[in-house]
Amino acid sequence: MSKSVKFTSGQFFVAVHRLARWFEHQRRILPWRNDPSVYRVWVSEIMLQQTQVVTVVPYFERFMTHYPTLDALTAASEADVLKLWAGLGYYSRARNLYRAAKIFVENGFPKSRAEWLEVPGIGDYTAGAILSIALDQPEPILDGNVERVISRVRRTSDRARLRRLSRAFVETSFRRGIRPSVANQALMELGATVCSPRQPHCGKCPLFDICHACAAGDAEQFPESKKRKEWIAIQEELHCIFGEDGRVLLREREPGEWRAGLWDLIEPRALDKSRSAKTALTPMGTVQTRHIVTRHKILRTTHVWKAEKKGIHLRVKSSRWVSIHTPEVAVGAALQRTLNRIREKFPEVSRLN
Ligand code: SF4
Repeated sequence: MSKSVKFTSGQFFVAVHRLARWFEHQRRILPWRNDPSVYRVWVSEIMLQQTQVVTVVPYFERFMTHYPTLDALTAASEADVLKLWAGLGYYSRARNLYRAAKIFVENGFPKSRAEWLEVPGIGDYTAGAILSIALDQPEPILDGNVERVISRVRRTSDRARLRRLSRAFVETSFRRGIRPSVANQALMELGATVCSPRQPHCGKCPLFDICHACAAGDAEQFPESKKRKEWIAIQEELHCIFGEDGRVLLREREPGEWRAGLWDLIEPRALDKSRSAKTALTPMGTVQTRHIVTRHKILRTTHVWKAEKKGIHLRVKSSRWVSIHTPEVAVGAALQRTLNRIREKFPEVSRLN
C-alpha cells in the first residue's frame, strides 16, 4: 500500500496559481483550444479517447473543414462521417458522435454532467472535460495524465482518493479565481509534457515544491501500475479479389457486425455463397498482416485472387469494386495496411487501375 503525505493549504494555493501561470505560457497550440466551443471540444474529446494528440490533430482539422458546425455534421450521412474518420480507429466513436449530433440538433447540447452521461459515447472523463473546458464548470476530470500528476503530488495510488482529489482541486481552484478550463487543462498539460511516466522533468515543474513523490525521489513508482492487459488473439481469413481492370471487391460491414459501416475484404462465407459457375478465380498467393485493436491481437490472412469475370460481385451482398489506391469508401487502418501489403506484393495487378 502506498503512503500519502499532507502539505499545507497555503503551499497548495501558491503552487496552483503557479501552475495556472505556467499553463498560460507553456501550453501547446492545439486546434480545439482556439475557439473552445461546446461543439469543437466535444468532437476533439471524442477523437482523443484512446488516441494520442499528435494523431488527432490532422483528423480534427479535416473534420472541422468538412463539418464546421453541428448543422453541417447532421446534414452529412453516417457513411460520409465514417469515411472522414477512416484511419483514426475505434469506429464506434464516429457512429456515436453522429447519433449524438442528431439528438443535439433537436434538443441542444446538454448542460449538466448527468445529461452528458446520457449521450452515446460519453463517459465520466469526457463529460468532465466538456463541462470544464467548454463551459467553465468546476467539474473534475481524471485521465491518465491528471491521475499521474495528482498521484505523485500526493504520493498515493488509491483510485477513490484520486477521484476525490481531482474534484477538490478544480472546485478549490475555482473558488480561488482560477477558471476550471485553465485548472483542468493545466493539470492535463503538465502530465502530458512534464510529468512523464518515465523520468519526469521535476526541475521544470511548477508543482515541484508541493510534490511528495518528487521529494521522496520515487515519482516513477506512482501511480502503481494497474493489472496487465490481457490480450485476445484473433485469426481472420479474408479474400481479396482483383477484377479484370485491377479494381478490388470490398463489402460494407452491416449493423451488428464488428466494424459496422466500414468496408473490408470478402469473408470466406460470403465468397462461398456468391461463387457462380461462370466465374473463374485464379489464385495469386497469400499475404499475412498483424494488427492491434484495443485488447485484440489480430492475425489476418488474405488470399489473393484474380477474377476472370466481374460477375462475382452480383452475389456478394453490399459489395462494390473499388480502386486499391483510393477506395473512396470508409476503410479502417487494418484494411489499409492489408491493401498496402497486397500492392507491394502484386504490383503488376495493382498497376492496372
Ligand atoms: S514534481 Fe515531478 S513528479 Fe511531481 S508533479 Fe512535477 S513533474 Fe511530476
